[in-house]
Amino acid sequence: MSEESKTAAEQDENAARRMVQEIVERNATCHKSDDDAQMIRKAFELANDAHRGMRRRSGELYIFHPVAVARIVAEEIGLDATSVAAALLHDVVEDTELTLPDIEQMFSPSVAHIVDGLTKLDVVIDQHESLQAENFRKLLVSMIEDVRIILIKLADRLHNMRTLESLPDHKRYRIAAETLYIYAPIANRLGLYAIKTELEDLSLKYEQPKAYQDIYDRLQTFKRDFQVVIDSVMVPLRKRLDERGYKYEIKARTKSIYSIWRKMQNKGVQFEEIYDIIASRVVFEPKEGMEEKTQCWDIYSILTDLFRPNPDRLRDWVSTPKSNGYEALHTTVMSPEGRWVEVQIRSKRMDEVAERGLAAHWKYKGEKGDSEIDAWLEGLKKMLDNASQNSMEFMDAFKLNLFSQELMVFTPHGDTRMMPAGSTALDFAFALHSNLGFHCIGAKVNYKLEPLSYVLKSGDQVEIITSDNQKPKYEWINFCTTAKAKTCIREAFREYRRQTIEKGERKVAEELSKVKLSVNARIIQKMLSHYHFDSKDDLYYSIGSGTTDVDGLEKALRQNSTSKWIKFWHLTFGDKKKTDLPQEEDEDHDLVMPKGKNVILSDDDGQQKYNIATCCRPIPGDDIVAYIEDDGSMTLHSRTCPEALKLMSSQGNRIVSAQWESHKVLSYLVEIEVNGIDRQGVVAEITGLIASELHVKMRSVSFEGHDGIFVGSILLYTYSAADLNTLIEALKKVKGVHGVSRKETKTDNK
Ligand code: MN
Repeated sequence: MSEESKTAAEQDENAARRMVQEIVERNATCHKSDDDAQMIRKAFELANDAHRGMRRRSGELYIFHPVAVARIVAEEIGLDATSVAAALLHDVVEDTELTLPDIEQMFSPSVAHIVDGLTKLDVVIDQHESLQAENFRKLLVSMIEDVRIILIKLADRLHNMRTLESLPDHKRYRIAAETLYIYAPIANRLGLYAIKTELEDLSLKYEQPKAYQDIYDRLQTFKRDFQVVIDSVMVPLRKRLDERGYKYEIKARTKSIYSIWRKMQNKGVQFEEIYDIIASRVVFEPKEGMEEKTQCWDIYSILTDLFRPNPDRLRDWVSTPKSNGYEALHTTVMSPEGRWVEVQIRSKRMDEVAERGLAAHWKYKGEKGDSEIDAWLEGLKKMLDNASQNSMEFMDAFKLNLFSQELMVFTPHGDTRMMPAGSTALDFAFALHSNLGFHCIGAKVNYKLEPLSYVLKSGDQVEIITSDNQKPKYEWINFCTTAKAKTCIREAFREYRRQTIEKGERKVAEELSKVKLSVNARIIQKMLSHYHFDSKDDLYYSIGSGTTDVDGLEKALRQNSTSKWIKFWHLTFGDKKKTDLPQEEDEDHDLVMPKGKNVILSDDDGQQKYNIATCCRPIPGDDIVAYIEDDGSMTLHSRTCPEALKLMSSQGNRIVSAQWESHKVLSYLVEIEVNGIDRQGVVAEITGLIASELHVKMRSVSFEGHDGIFVGSILLYTYSAADLNTLIEALKKVKGVHGVSRKETKTDNK
């Protein structure tokens, strides 16, 4: 290293050191005592020595990363000095020579414990640049052991997202997808709204750059009018609040880019149609001698004396806080220019809880133990103890648990319970007690009889009706949405399946004993091939449940089956492949996956090497990703497909970014929807246009009409997104046709 660059590096190190000093000085949590400040400085020096010479991909000295994470931990989450020290050391054990015992000796067991948790998470997450489903449990276990671990991990992820620019494309997609799928919801669940919002916006920026930029630009234009609107509401409001002796702060901002995008997607509306883009906040210093809640309503009444509120937009999180601790009163009023402005009214304490989440919550509530979040973590622990779930199921269950929107449901006795949005009567039954769920036959909702599948609304009073004769049915899975209900039902059926398999086993043993035989591997092999089952359990289950009859068993065994040999051959072949190449497996994967590059797929190179996912049916021209199947073939998904998002998050190392060229050799199946005003001959005109004029092949057509309106669905073959658009535009010109759209996979609200 030359003298010059050495000094440059030293200068950088000094800059990092100054940043740490600033963190200590600016944050009360970092200098509660001299020891705290001392510990943080020491952690910095140790990390600095350990990472010396390392650089991030951006070219920046590595130490700036842990320092930036420490700053987020201190300033944006508000954690204690132990956490700040651990944040500085978070990459040390994994990336350098230092060991955990070293850290424990130099610092404290709690710092070492947190660093240990973070290192374990890094090993499971970062090695493959993506969180793998089977390791997901570990992340949650660490979260329960010490919530600071996951909070620092969130800070780490936030800084990585802020600096994602310098990574190659394919890594960005994975990290962004995973952030959206897991980290943002966790931040939300823990009440860290500011971090959640930033994570979402950054994910969108890398996942959907065009959509992001478009909304960003529109917001810039919008902001020119923004101040005028805000002032027209806030100037009169300030005057009244001053007269009443309130001390307060008013903040105004626009909705986040991601939440605007979500709204446009979910409601199918344009930017201009979103009416609540402006959100403002009145944060007051509570006056002595009056409850905070009362003061919220007082300010509400001052505001609504001045401006007309929208009655549908009142949200009272003051009387019933959200389960993540959020408290505030939300209302939307009409400005003199005729624009809706959302106003959130909260005390300073409520605001801090909203911004910093549970860290602030504990600060006000004393140590942990009494908050809803603790109850949630407790519930999570129970889920984790339930070891029989497979990891994908578990991940889904956990995702369900992260629902942010909530509704309040009343029991017949007037008790309330918060339920995730989308919950059904059956979910509610399971939430009260698993036995209520299992025997539930329906519910009285506001005194009216409703089925199990009734979707709850906020404020519903629900009485669960049970019957001793009722037994859980597996289809129930389809109309419940909460993790608790789904887990209970799966559990019940796992138990049922186990018992049925045992019953099948007994039946077979009985049948065989009649001819003085007992079960052995050869007999099982014969039975499998005779009854066409792949596994012993499936066979026994089928026999146990009475679907497969064992009466002919003896005859079956006597038959000299030829297919047995085919099976046998098949099995050895399958095994050989696995046992012979265990060490090469990883490399094998590397060969299959062209890392670091977009795969270019084309439909004119003779043989199609890919499959089209049936969930989203992408066509050339769509933004796509490719998922590498076990056999090395690729399945193409649309980049916005929820299934693809899940795969990117859970098995990101098998996802590659792909581009698709069409040479109009192959055509692809898509479904379009047409609706409009019914008139004689309109269907014939539509199909005629598609088939004869545009020469597009259709696979199926179905039209339904009632009350003068028709809705049609057409499955047809197209070469590319561009061709499809031409067709859609042509159809829109048919007289009476109101809307034509490509049918997308439904994005569920998760
Ligand atoms: Mn890191």
